[in-house]
Amino acid sequence: MADQKQIITRFAPSPTGFLHIGGGRTALFSWLYARRHNGKFLLRIEDTDRERSTEPAIEAIFEGLRWLGLEWDGDVTYQFAQQARHREVADQLMATGHAYHCYASPEELDEMRAKAKAEGGPMKYDGRWRDRPASDAPAGVKPVIRFKSPNEGETVVRDHVMGDVTFANAQLDDLIIVRSDGTPTYNLSVVVDDHDMGVTHIIRGDDHLTNAGRQSQIYKAMGWDVPEFAHVPLIHGPDGAKLSKRHGALGVEAYRDLGYLPEAMRNYLARLGWSHGDDEIFSTDQALAWFDLEHIGRSPSRFDFAKLENLNGHYIREADDTRLADDTIALMTRIDGWNVDADFRSKLIASMPGIKERAKTLLEIAKGADFLRSARPLALDEKAAKLLDGDTKSLLARLLPRLEARNEWTASGIEDDVRAFAEEEGQKLGKIAQPLRAAATGQTVSPPIFDVLATLGRDEALGRIRDQVA
Ligand code: GLU
Repeated sequence: MADQKQIITRFAPSPTGFLHIGGGRTALFSWLYARRHNGKFLLRIEDTDRERSTEPAIEAIFEGLRWLGLEWDGDVTYQFAQQARHREVADQLMATGHAYHCYASPEELDEMRAKAKAEGGPMKYDGRWRDRPASDAPAGVKPVIRFKSPNEGETVVRDHVMGDVTFANAQLDDLIIVRSDGTPTYNLSVVVDDHDMGVTHIIRGDDHLTNAGRQSQIYKAMGWDVPEFAHVPLIHGPDGAKLSKRHGALGVEAYRDLGYLPEAMRNYLARLGWSHGDDEIFSTDQALAWFDLEHIGRSPSRFDFAKLENLNGHYIREADDTRLADDTIALMTRIDGWNVDADFRSKLIASMPGIKERAKTLLEIAKGADFLRSARPLALDEKAAKLLDGDTKSLLARLLPRLEARNEWTASGIEDDVRAFAEEEGQKLGKIAQPLRAAATGQTVSPPIFDVLATLGRDEALGRIRDQVA
């Protein structure tokens, strides 16, 4: 066997905002790959942008990953804390002739920029300090350190998704690896951290593909093994444009607050850009058994909100009733100020089979549970109010004594009474059940009405009917 090394992946977000849905998917792919191969999934917070990195954003990343069920191994690495080590590597590159001090002034760089612009190409540093002796250094100027990138030949990134991506070395100019204030730059930090963390597989967005070329050169200059790369195409919106705010929810926490289940998100995100035959619905265990880098698609995937919603509905129907009740209560307590007691919780659990049939999100479960939270006298919605006219009210008034006479308050007992009553009245069951539903829930849709009445309990159910016929 060629390579028996333990597989180590990592997720390396910059904590400058919430955990983006694209980041969530990258993390999921890295997690799946590591777990599938009994490897490790590490987390590195790339907090070197001191202005934009914030503590709440770091917390949001932890929260988002935990909610998605993507636990990382070991301690979190903070990139900023590794600066001394990054500088040490820059010094080694200097010592081995792979890097040099550059004293080019801002004016000189402006000239290079203007020249590149005139020629219609990207800004390229022309290498003017590459081979100059230290004795040429101007007094009082703090130099940057540039990486001496090879001028000839090619750098090939063997990417598991994109295939072999070839960069002509002449196109990659000498990158600044340490700024004049002594701070290391992004590409150096990433290489050093990935090396020091023992990362074997870098799975990330394809906006980093060019960086992979530059980073490969740094690995080689240090004599380090270049990790395997898998650059995943970015996520686009339904209209084909790069996913942005205007498409709707962008952060993982927004999906949590919209009432999506983490297992539905995992299924949806795994399928977004990766495939296993025609399988659309698969469990996390199946994804763990199947996930590979070879079936990540090369073209951007489109985020399909309707598909996610349907998938979520599927997972809701499969989920345990108590868990759904607890998740709904926790969510609504947090975002909507719910303050409910144990009695409500048991009623919600009892009603869950009927409620979850129609719900695609926890928010819809909450809405379906409105009838349990409403206080008498119920405010009727428009349709329910329309349904309860004079005729239906007198129908309910005639039904009431029969229900009041019932001792055993169960769904099937209530159903027996209502059926017998409908027969006496020469009405179809629905003609009685609909106004009953309107009176008991204030709405025209609800879980099965006899279940609703049983769950509400005798006093509350009868009280609600009485309120409407009085
Ligand atoms: N911190 C980078 C980002 O948020 C990712 C770097 C990497 O994965 O190499 O885009």
